[in-house]
Amino acid sequence: MRKFFSLLLAAAVCLGPAAFAQSPLPTASAADRALAREIFKQLIEINTTDTSLGNVTTGAAAMQKRFLDAGFASEDVKLLGPDARKQNLVVRLRAAGTPTAKPVLFLCHMDVVQALRSDWSTDPFQFVEKDGYYYGRGTQDMKESDAALVATFLRLHQEGYKPSRDLILALTADEEGGKFNGARWLLEQHRELVDAAYVINPDSGGVELDHGRAVVADVEATEKVYSDYQITAVNPGGHSSRPRADNAIYELTTALNKLAAYTFPFELNEVTRTYFKNLAAQEKGQTGDDTRAILATPPDKAAAARLSAEPSFNSNFRTTCVATRLAAGHANNALAQTAQANVNCRIFPGHSPEEIRHQLIEILGNSKLTVKYVSDAGEVADIAPERKAIAPPAPIKEVFEPLTRITQAIWPGTPVTPVMENGASDSIYFALAGIPCYGYSAIALERDDDRAHGQDERLPVESYWKSLDFFYSFAKEVGKSRK
Ligand SMILES: [Zn+2]
Repeated sequence: MRKFFSLLLAAAVCLGPAAFAQSPLPTASAADRALAREIFKQLIEINTTDTSLGNVTTGAAAMQKRFLDAGFASEDVKLLGPDARKQNLVVRLRAAGTPTAKPVLFLCHMDVVQALRSDWSTDPFQFVEKDGYYYGRGTQDMKESDAALVATFLRLHQEGYKPSRDLILALTADEEGGKFNGARWLLEQHRELVDAAYVINPDSGGVELDHGRAVVADVEATEKVYSDYQITAVNPGGHSSRPRADNAIYELTTALNKLAAYTFPFELNEVTRTYFKNLAAQEKGQTGDDTRAILATPPDKAAAARLSAEPSFNSNFRTTCVATRLAAGHANNALAQTAQANVNCRIFPGHSPEEIRHQLIEILGNSKLTVKYVSDAGEVADIAPERKAIAPPAPIKEVFEPLTRITQAIWPGTPVTPVMENGASDSIYFALAGIPCYGYSAIALERDDDRAHGQDERLPVESYWKSLDFFYSFAKEVGKSRK
């Protein structure tokens, strides 16, 4: 996933009033940049799609070789996974002596979405530099961050830098799709390799540019849980010349209309509260008044309803469930024996898929319908998972202080705000395991140039250099000792 601009942000918002004092950041040397570019090129030109031509292991193994050649110990560079083509790489930059805190994990997916040569102006699996941009599949999502972090870890190691706690880099398979999600597999099978105080996931968040001017830096601090449900109505059917009183299609559509009319309850958590508080400080007029009114105790319901007319606000306020697919009947002249719909829910942190399944049964209001859970792999089950994402507490200072300071040293005056992502990334597996995740790419993109998953995906060369500088300083900051 890369959902860059997650929310409607008409006005820039700030995390806290004070701008941090700025000191010049160390910048990558010409040699550092050359190596980082070479790694980026190598990764773009290795096809890691979930297709017969793609192979994540080839990319992971190429990075493994770089770390081993640079002198990393082999036990700190692990290549592992449940499938020969879907291996993950976990690299550990060890603390000097006894670590002073739990590790920090940088989580990056290595797979990319399929791209066809016929759709593109250039070969999507060739790294092309043109007019100040790098072109290729994965230049925005997210081989630029894979490469920047590989280059950063190599540079830190080469300089002899020793953090006070372990820094881990995981390059994983099947975030975009496929059966072997590496983030989940590592957590379930080798938690000791990826266990961390918190996760930095560059698959979301970043700096929004408006005609070259940095407007705001978004940090994903929590995300909703993705969940599909299969709703089924069945009927004995029969000849359509003799309609019966009961009918699978009508029963299903009647129930779906009840869902369409239903609104899940309004909710705020620490992340969205901070976000809307920041927004309230900037917005004027009715939107400003309404934003302040929803922050009151109790929240103003009329204000929440007015703001909910904007879909991105609505999604940030509550669980949403919407019918996304429909299938029924087997012949034009027969009564349908089965009518089925897929309902896709994005669950507000704090609720489980099973809790929402029960709520759907109640909303649909017809005990003849079955409501089943559909897993990411497409398996249908009577019961949904009970696990729930826990919204993290207000954004932690240990992450946000250096993140804000370094961001503002690179993009002066740019406010930083935490957001709740309405979509989903690999962060969710770590959030479900109780490990806070922060999504930040340090990539600056024009608001209208989001090409992730699209054709002619590209990244400004300048953005790549800036992300290198960000991660180098940021890794050193989070690697410092903690009391
Ligand atoms: Zn992604």
